[in-house]
Amino acid sequence: MDDDQEFRREIRDWLAANVTDDLRGAGGAGRENEVFEQRLAFARKLAAAGWSTLAWPVEHGGRGASLARQVIFHEEYARSGAPGRVDHIGVTMVGPTLMALGSAAQQARFLPGIATATELWCQGYSEPGAGSDLAAVTTRARLEGDEWVLTGQKVWTSLAHVADWCFVLARTAPVPPGASRHAGLSYLLVPMRQAGVTVRPIRQLTGDSEFNEVFFDEARTSRDLVVGEPGGGWRVAMATLGFERGAATVGQQVGFQQDLDDLVALARRTGAVADPAVRERLTRAWIDLTVLRAHTLRVLAAPPAVGTATVIKLLWSRWRQGIGELAMAVLGPAGIAAPPGDADVDRWRRLFLFSRADTIYGGSNEIQRGILAERVLGLPRQDRR
Ligand SMILES: Cc1cc2nc3c(=O)[nH]c(=O)nc-3n(C[C@H](O)[C@H](O)[C@H](O)COP(=O)(O)OP(=O)(O)OC[C@H]3O[C@@H](n4cnc5c(N)ncnc54)[C@H](O)[C@@H]3O)c2cc1C
Repeated sequence: MDDDQEFRREIRDWLAANVTDDLRGAGGAGRENEVFEQRLAFARKLAAAGWSTLAWPVEHGGRGASLARQVIFHEEYARSGAPGRVDHIGVTMVGPTLMALGSAAQQARFLPGIATATELWCQGYSEPGAGSDLAAVTTRARLEGDEWVLTGQKVWTSLAHVADWCFVLARTAPVPPGASRHAGLSYLLVPMRQAGVTVRPIRQLTGDSEFNEVFFDEARTSRDLVVGEPGGGWRVAMATLGFERGAATVGQQVGFQQDLDDLVALARRTGAVADPAVRERLTRAWIDLTVLRAHTLRVLAAPPAVGTATVIKLLWSRWRQGIGELAMAVLGPAGIAAPPGDADVDRWRRLFLFSRADTIYGGSNEIQRGILAERVLGLPRQDRR
């Protein structure tokens, strides 16, 4: 316990010394491209100091930190105003996947680049015809000599424009007769910087472009860069999604608390607190956040159970959308009509607009409720094509 306090002091001091003014608060939702080079340099510093892969086991270059310390790290990271991570897809998604299911050669090749933020990653799952119904992916890959050759299109690929590598779910064999559509898909590690890959940014509601279309036109990757068995990629792809959140959720909630505190302050300044409906909604937001935090900590401390992560995703995504909508109520007509340039209006408008995506990515809320219906409540399975 005392050691944990010491640990908290250590990370707090490190952040105080290294989070410079240009980095503070940069790269949040709807601001993903902000001071990117500085944030990349910061990610490398964080890695060099041993903080980045704190949760990774020691044998893979991490610190094997306890859950309590992971929570402390994420809390302090958020409190310090440290910038949005540019390397999180590698650190929290593909890194743990390789540790669990990758070959020793894949681990040796990729984990160091992830741990030092010298190689950035993106996630190539969604396609124009395959999002919630991910098994419908049509990107194909065939073996040609020692290489996989990929053709197809991905979409909504976050950070593809800065990524060095992409983990791609592709069909490498037809569905065997009578088998499920999950068979014949493979999880391939594909270099992004090659002639066969085209990345086209998609302009989002916020005006920024955090995600992209990615086109594979005879793109190539080495035969041994399939994770797990060829044709057995579904299991690997689902494992990656299972790693997506975790202790970082707690840090996110520290950010939510800051948002709520700032919104209360804004409501005081604008006089919106005089409106009983606004007071009621601010109070409800505080209650809901308190419940969310308690639930998250309880879930993190308990053995994994079906549906618990799903409930957290449902709660936080609705919470943030709610605070975006409430911010618009606090701002009143200025929220819609004011030209860009007012820092308050810009901030809350961006949060309002970006948070529309919160109930879509990482599995839409309808899909999350479907998971709970079937796997927790035991309701009949939904008909699927
Ligand atoms: C900000 C952002 C970042 C993203 N980043 C990435 C990324 O890096 N890599 C990546 O691969 N993808 C990414 N995505 C894509 C995301 O995973 C998909 O948008 C999501 O899975 C939904 O798929 P879809 O957009 O094709 O919608 P669809 O699946 O077409 O769904 C459309 C609507 O139908 C509903 N629906 C669909 N099926 C059912 C059902 N069975 N029951 C009830 N309702 C249903 C959905 O809930 C939704 O409301 C990102 C998305 C966003 C918004």
